[in-house]
Amino acid sequence: MEKPTGNRPSVVIVGAGFGGLRVARGLRRAPVDVTVLDRHNYHTFVPLLYQVATAGLEPEEIAQPIRRILRDARNVRFRLATVTGVDLERRAVITNVGEVEYDYLVLAAGSVTNYFGLDSVAQAACALRDLDDAERLRDRILGALETASAESDPERRRQLMTIIVVGGGPTGMELAGALAELRRHVLPRDYPELDLASGRTLLLEATDRLLPGMPAGLQIRAQDKLRALGVEIRLQAPVADADDGGVTLRSGERLAAGAVVWVAGMRAAPLAEALPTTRGAGGRLVVTTTLQLPDHPEVYAIGDMAHVGGLDARPHPMVAPVAIQQGELVAENILRQTAGKEGKPFTYKDRGTMATIGRRAAVAHIFGLQLNGFVAWLIWLTVHLVWLIGFRNRMLVLINWAWNYLTYERAVRLIRGRR
Ligand SMILES: Cc1cc2nc3c(=O)[nH]c(=O)nc-3n(C[C@H](O)[C@H](O)[C@H](O)COP(=O)(O)OP(=O)(O)OC[C@H]3O[C@@H](n4cnc5c(N)ncnc54)[C@H](O)[C@@H]3O)c2cc1C
Repeated sequence: MEKPTGNRPSVVIVGAGFGGLRVARGLRRAPVDVTVLDRHNYHTFVPLLYQVATAGLEPEEIAQPIRRILRDARNVRFRLATVTGVDLERRAVITNVGEVEYDYLVLAAGSVTNYFGLDSVAQAACALRDLDDAERLRDRILGALETASAESDPERRRQLMTIIVVGGGPTGMELAGALAELRRHVLPRDYPELDLASGRTLLLEATDRLLPGMPAGLQIRAQDKLRALGVEIRLQAPVADADDGGVTLRSGERLAAGAVVWVAGMRAAPLAEALPTTRGAGGRLVVTTTLQLPDHPEVYAIGDMAHVGGLDARPHPMVAPVAIQQGELVAENILRQTAGKEGKPFTYKDRGTMATIGRRAAVAHIFGLQLNGFVAWLIWLTVHLVWLIGFRNRMLVLINWAWNYLTYERAVRLIRGRR
């Protein structure tokens, strides 16, 4: 069993995502020893995954080695490990490379795709949750076009050129917009033998609106812009079944496609199920307002894994600012706990949401202002660039965006055999 040497309290953080890294940052230089565990040796900037999937960015441009991020924090160390369970009584984290003891534990393992029990969808559809998913999706889209170019049956060709995106939240919308632009501006030059306009980009949403949570005016603007790009939007179209050739709606209607992408929901990382404690919506761990497990105040849960304030409280949205703000508070609360003080309750400061639709188009609801079009797009670009970790990555992404914008090209149209 591993435990940092010394008499200082040991804090173990599971997950170096948005929340976990914020805890580590808040504890650097504090009188505690911190161990960060993650199954990957890199942090992923998830909001730009869709640009990797649509050939706009290299995977490495939106990832950063965790050791690089933490190297200035002397009291923080990193272990590459997949956490499979927690022994709450013995205060030990169980991993694929052994156990790690803790005095304080922070669970920040994020979320996985939620298929809502639709097994056929889980089997057949592509997900978009990590870099592997993004590369697999890119392979799938480009691979379907290669197959289409060798296909003589026009109906089958049309099917292979059709992509279905399921889920009308910001990710589904951004992905559908990027796919439509890829089809319109980039791929026709690569595939002169294909009539790409005969294929379809479909965006399916089970409810009656896109971008739930955004003001109605912005929802309508986003829809209009997507439609102008050639995306077919189908509202109140819940998917019941999927296979390699497309999806079947609950109404019985069949929609054929060469690729189906499921971005319709997330649920807490499976690690949450390994803990003998109450779980709320989406399998998230129910924690107190101070972000602790009710019977184990030495264990904190944050971000996509946490349902704050009890089962009756409304869960916070699964977005990065929630995880970041909770990470900051947990660092503070752990230090208060070591000093014998009460923890502070969490209050989410919602600064708004935004989503990009395509070139020079985005919608943003920030600080109470409703913005759309070019201004919202510029804000979206700036926020994401500033938010991305690492100067080199920022420069590379900026260069790629400028290149894509000026040339109508996408640099990374590679199929790397992950289908
Ligand atoms: C495609 C997509 C786009 C998104 N876009 C936005 C956006 O534009 N804006 C926004 O605010 N939010 C966005 N989100 C949501 C946002 O990414 C999450 O809310 C946020 O990442 C949650 O932070 P977290 O710290 O809880 O988990 P994460 O940031 O997901 O970090 C979890 C970490 O835990 C690690 N991990 C998981 N399981 C284990 C294990 N068993 N053992 C060891 N390590 C483990 C993972 O490798 C990962 O590093 C998006 C999500 C997706 C899927």
